[in-house]
Amino acid sequence: MKVLVVGGTGYIGSHAVLELLKDDHEVVVLDNLSTGRKTSILEKVTFYYGDITKKEDLFNVFLEECKKKPFDVVMHFASKLLVGESMSMPSEYYQNNVEGVRLLLDTMREFNIKNIIFSSTAAVYGNPINGVCYEEDLLKPINPYGETKLVCENMIKWYSKAYDMHYVIFRYFNVAGADSSLEIGYNYNKKVITHLIPIVAETILNIRDKFTVFGDDYNTEDGTCIRDYIHVSDLAHAHLLGAKYIWDGNDSTIINLGSNNGYSVKEIIEAALKCGDVNYVIGERRAGDPDVLIASNQRAKDILHFETKYNIDDIITSEVAYRKKLG
Ligand code: UDP
Repeated sequence: MKVLVVGGTGYIGSHAVLELLKDDHEVVVLDNLSTGRKTSILEKVTFYYGDITKKEDLFNVFLEECKKKPFDVVMHFASKLLVGESMSMPSEYYQNNVEGVRLLLDTMREFNIKNIIFSSTAAVYGNPINGVCYEEDLLKPINPYGETKLVCENMIKWYSKAYDMHYVIFRYFNVAGADSSLEIGYNYNKKVITHLIPIVAETILNIRDKFTVFGDDYNTEDGTCIRDYIHVSDLAHAHLLGAKYIWDGNDSTIINLGSNNGYSVKEIIEAALKCGDVNYVIGERRAGDPDVLIASNQRAKDILHFETKYNIDDIITSEVAYRKKLG
């Protein structure tokens, strides 16, 4: 397959690129390097610097590449993804996440490219009553991040009906860890690190003295939020399976990517203690956080024959090893 990976130097995009290359596919990356790392541009990749919200940047890649050979599949990773940030700056989330996807879909139409793999999120479920999310559940996002992803999911569905496009929409749960080469991973160089596992990794390595647990009065057994953590290499592998699935002409679908296991923040701390000390304090709740989000991963198993290879210890250990290597 020839695959365009939009946002291919970012944390998840670069792991997906690696999976595609390992399986001998041709990869073109479009990225504005806003959160991605230049070092994530792998040798065999054709790289275009550009922004998904700029029509001319998108048009240029499609024009240059499709005259050689059209893309078989487009993968979209170029979005803003921080729940807390989305609560305080929704405008940027609508501009980047929604407008960017509309431009991408319209450019695909112009060049008659039919297949898209789209990164959505568990945040579209909102605050599910029993915490376990099934793809057909009612969607009620409680933050702008989830809301913008839901708008995109619906946009893709309508475009698919009207313009005969095909999609796999993946709803990510909590992605963490790093590829075993430790060559690519979470971008720690940017000022804002908000995700739990990277913060815990830095605490273990004494890069931080301590971290704050955001609330212990949630409706869970120990009072801290429960999430479903999935290793980034497992998640990336699912993208390869999804691309093949849609390229083979199968029906469009929406698939959760999680492990079907939930861990509270305190359980993550417990697991992390195997790697070293973790100092923390209990603080206030963070706006926009639901109590429990766990994926039903039955559909991923049934449709893509997807199984996770890595568990929570692998996730934490690889994150710590990667962060340590960065120095
Ligand atoms: N969390 C925390 N302290 C932190 C960062 C995160 O207690 O410094 C909690 C957060 O409130 C949530 C869980 O860890 O319950 C996972 O948060 P993360 O930001 O990693 O992912 P999200 O679920 O928001 O996508």
